[in-house]
Parts: sequence; structure tokens; C-alpha cells
Amino acid sequence: MEAVFQRCIRPACGATAALDDTSFVCPRCGGLMDVAYDWSKLQPPAALRDFEKKWAQRGNPLHFSGVWRFLELLPFAHPEKVMTIGEGQTILQRADAVAQYAGLNAGCLFLQYEGMNPSGSFKDNGMTAAFTHARLSGARRAACASTGNTSASLAVFCSATGLMRAIIFIGSGKISYGKLAQALDHGALTVQIAGDFDDAMQRVQQVARKLGIYLVNSINPFRLEGQKTIMFRVLEALRWEPPDWIVVPGGNLGNVSAFGKAFGELADLGLLTRVPRLAVINAAGASTFFQLYERFGVRWNNGQPQDKLIDGYYQGLDAEKIRAATIASAIEINHPVNLPKALRALERCGGVVREVSDQEILDAKAKVGAGGLGCEPASAASVAGARKLRREGVIAAGERVVCILTGHQLKDPTTTVAYHSTDQKTFDDVLGHRGVRRATFANRAVQVPNDLDDIIKAIELYS
Ligand SMILES: *Cc1c(COP(=O)(O)O)cnc(C)c1O
Ligand SMILES: [Zn+2]
Repeated sequence: MEAVFQRCIRPACGATAALDDTSFVCPRCGGLMDVAYDWSKLQPPAALRDFEKKWAQRGNPLHFSGVWRFLELLPFAHPEKVMTIGEGQTILQRADAVAQYAGLNAGCLFLQYEGMNPSGSFKDNGMTAAFTHARLSGARRAACASTGNTSASLAVFCSATGLMRAIIFIGSGKISYGKLAQALDHGALTVQIAGDFDDAMQRVQQVARKLGIYLVNSINPFRLEGQKTIMFRVLEALRWEPPDWIVVPGGNLGNVSAFGKAFGELADLGLLTRVPRLAVINAAGASTFFQLYERFGVRWNNGQPQDKLIDGYYQGLDAEKIRAATIASAIEINHPVNLPKALRALERCGGVVREVSDQEILDAKAKVGAGGLGCEPASAASVAGARKLRREGVIAAGERVVCILTGHQLKDPTTTVAYHSTDQKTFDDVLGHRGVRRATFANRAVQVPNDLDDIIKAIELYS
């Protein structure tokens, strides 16, 4: 057996595939695959503090990267084969005003700001790893279906490296302009199909198989290897003292799956004695994971989740023609491809799932913005979810909570401007049909005549 390979996530199956295999489904049972390591043949770090040595060597692109400076914990590629564009330069910010909003004590809430990545979302953490794997396997074209950020990331990596052609599939009408702008500006071949994200996802898998195009959707286990490093950076910023909770928005459930794998491996390697709990936050209009986990009690069950309950749930959605619907377009997904891996992550870390309304998401987003970091709607689900869990008493006021801000504010300016708009029609057009009734924390522009006295009066009145 090689030191690095791919393995079916179901212990009862356990089929393996070679490192350079690009089908990303189990050859025996059709399930999801993991990147698997035989650590006895590798050199994992003796302690997490060992990574601090790399801080002094930022001239080396691999040590500069917030992903690859943890190479020893995702050792599937030779350092010379790694494709990096400087991803993962993120910050963990203590956010006391947001803590107060969420009902947490000062000093207890931290925001992990993934909007600082080159393409403006956490997807770059995974893309650098998938891109590296694509290069290992000799691919010339890479494709994804996307609610926007995966395609933006792929487009950036392709244009920055010039090594591959990006082909992106998007649903009609759902992608925000910030993200579409990136795909177009960075030269990706953009295929807009008449359907939603779940349709685009099905199609891209068919097309990738037929044409032998490398698939970078989060069914790709190498992306999740890169996304593990979000947790490594959180730990690093907290000087290796794990927080009590990680709260993350849930869409395709790649992030939560990656986080669970990261903590599982750290614990198995003896690098961490306590793992944080994981909270996944769905939007109420796309709450498959919440429904299955919290309502129907679906569990990992040692690799045998209750298929009947899951299939029955999806049949119900189809029968009633229910489509995912939320203002948080990055998590507007009803068929999360990483569902079993996410169940495993919650089992490993004692997780919970909650759903929050679009109203709660946008109010939380405004609080995040007022607190100094700009995020897109999906990201704010984490803060809205932390607030809900705090109110329920699941999270205590003095626990340390890290909310992942998955994407940048400028990804979706339309929603932000509509929320703060003075114009009822703008508000209604963008938000009315989403069940958002009020802009609780709106910061509205002040309308004044073009007259010096009036302008001065307005400024004195409002500041
Ligand atoms: C992709 C994405 C998500 C969803 O993450 P999953 O790993 O698919 O659950 C959340 N927020 C933003 C901004 C995203 O781009
Ligand atoms: Zn299998």
C-alpha cells in the first residue's frame, strides 16, 4: 500500500483508489472518497507549534501560503508540484460588538475572515489543493458547477497560473453579480444552463465523465484537504488552544466535512487533546441537512446512514417540487453532495445543525459589517446561528466561539444595498419575496437638497 491513496468513506466497503485517480467516486459502492494517509510512512509534525518555525520563512511561497505551510498535514503532493497563488492569508478577529449581538461575553466571539483570499472566499483553500492534484494527474481542463464562488476561484487559479482552461456551469438567474463578474473577467468558459444549482451539479458530473475533464466540485476530496487548513489557521491564531465551538454555514457541506477530518486527524496524531464542537447553519429555505439531522435523526451510523429516511426526504422535495430558496445564494442547495461526510464530522465532534431565516441572516450580516468585517449573506448565517444556539442555551455565554465568514462582502453588493436602501421598491424587488420584512439595522443614506446649509444641518443632526 502506498503512503497516500484514496479510500471509500464507508468502513464496511473500504475500497481504495490510486492517488492520481480522478473519478472521485468509490469504484465498488459509488460512495464518496477520502484522501487517506498511512502516517507511519509519512512525517507528521511532532507538535503543532513546530509550524511556527515557518513564520520566519515567508519568502518561500509554500511557507507564505496559509494552506501549504501545513503541508505535513495534507502531504499528498511533492512540494515542487504544489500550485499556490498566495491563498489563505486570512485573519481571526476578536469581535466584541458581534459577540454582544450573539449574546456572548466580550472576548468570546472570533470571526475567521476567509473573504481575504485571492478570489474573495474560502474556496481558494480547496482550489489550490484540487489544482495541485489536477496537475499531478495531467489534466488540461477543469470544470465545476457553482453557486458562484467555486467558479470564481477556479477562474482565478486558471488565469493566474495559465495552466488550465476553466469551464464553469451556473444555474440561470441565481448567481450574484460579484461572482459572475469574476468568472467572466478571469476568462472562464461560462455555461449557463436553464435550471438551478442542483441541476448544474448533475450535468457537470456527466460532462466531466464524458469528456475527461477534471472536476473541482466539493465531491473532489482533494479540495477538502485544502479546506482543513482553515481550522489549522484558527488554531494557530488561538495559539493552538482549541475554541469550544466552530460555527459554519452549510451548503454542499464540504467545509464541515473538511473541518471534521482535520480535527479527527489531529486527534489521531496526538496533536490535539480536545476537539471543538461543530455547528452547521443552514438557511431555512435550503435546510436539508437540518431536517435530516435534527428532525429525522439521521446519523453517520458507522458509515451506514439511514438511506430510507434520506431518500424519502428527497422524494418528498421532488414530489412537492420544492426548490432551494434563500437570499444566501452560496448555500442555496437542497442536495448537499457531502452529506455522509458531514454526518461523520458531526459524530466526531459532537455537532449540531440549525436553520436561520433570511431575515436573521441579513440582520446578522449588518452587525458583522458594523463590527468591521464585510461578508456576503451566506457567511452571516454563522453569526445568526451562533446567536440562535446561544439563545437556546446550547452555547454558553462564556464559551469561545469561532464563526467562519466564508466570503467577502463585495460578492453580493445587490443584497447589501437593498437592505440599507431608502427606497422601498429596491428593498421589495431584491428582498421582499424572500420573506425579509424589515432592515433592522439599516444604515440609510441621508437625502438632502443640493444646498450648503441643508447639508451642514443634516450632518450636524445625524453625526
Ligand atoms: C461554498 C460556500 C458556502 C458553502 O460551503 P459548503 O462547503 O458547500 O458547505 C458558504 N459560504 C460561501 C460564501 C460559499 O462560497
Ligand atoms: Zn465504497
